[in-house]
Amino acid sequence: MSKLGLKPIVMPILGTIPSRQISASALLVPESNEYLLLFDTEIFHLANLFCKATSLFIHIYEENGVVKFDLSEKAFEKTVNKDSPAFKHILELAMCLAIHGTASAASPYWPQPPHIFLSTLFTDSFEKFIISHEYAHVYLDHFSDCPTQKILFGKLEGETMSTSWKQEIEADLLASLLTITAMSEDGHDMGFSYCGIFLSFWAFEIFERAITLYQGGNRTRTHAKTHPPLTTRKGKLINFVIESYSGELREDI
Ligand SMILES: [Zn+2]
Repeated sequence: MSKLGLKPIVMPILGTIPSRQISASALLVPESNEYLLLFDTEIFHLANLFCKATSLFIHIYEENGVVKFDLSEKAFEKTVNKDSPAFKHILELAMCLAIHGTASAASPYWPQPPHIFLSTLFTDSFEKFIISHEYAHVYLDHFSDCPTQKILFGKLEGETMSTSWKQEIEADLLASLLTITAMSEDGHDMGFSYCGIFLSFWAFEIFERAITLYQGGNRTRTHAKTHPPLTTRKGKLINFVIESYSGELREDI
C-alpha cells in the first residue's frame, strides 16, 4: 500500500463461504462501519483448476538447465486442439460448473514440472487480483457513491453496492496495481502477474458461457450484466498498465 502511495484504511475482514454462487462480494456489515470481503469457496477451486489447465497449453522445455517457452504457432497447434490434455481439463471444468455448479467436482490432478511452477504463478496472481478487486471497491469508497442493497451471501446478510461499470473498471485498475506490486515483492515479473489477471477475466467469461449454453441460452452471450464486457475490461487494463509502467516497459525493451 505505502509503496503505491495509497493511504491506509480500516482493513476489511476476509472470509470464504460456500454460497454456491461462484462469486465474490464486498459487504458492509449492517449498522456498522465494518466491511467483509467474502469469496465463495468454489472461486479458489476454479482459479486453481483453470490455471493448471491453461498452463498446459504452453509448451515449456528445459535447455542447458534453463526453462524456456515456445510461443510459436506450431507449438500451440499441438496443445490447442480437442485431444490435448489442456483442452480436456478445461472442458471437464466447464461441464462441472454448468451441470453441478461447482469447480471442485472436476478431477484433481497435479501437473508435472515445469508446468506446475507456471500454474502456481498464474494461480497466485489470479487469486490476488480477485481479492484486490473487492478490496478496491472498499478503498475507493464505492459504498458512498452507489446505492446499497441488501443481499444474502450464503446464509449471511449484508449490504452491497449496486456498482456501475465505471466503478467495476476503477476496481479492476486499482486491483491490477495491487496485484502487480504484491507479485513483484515476491520476485515475480509483470508478465506472469498480467497473465493471472487476464486468466481471471477469461475464466468467468468461459464458464458463464458454458452455464448459459447448458441452460439452453445463447452461447454468444458474452458477459454478466454486473460487470463490463470482457473486451472492455481487457482494453482498459492494457491501456492502464502501459501508461502506469511505460518507463519500466521501455527499459525491458
Ligand atoms: Zn466489482
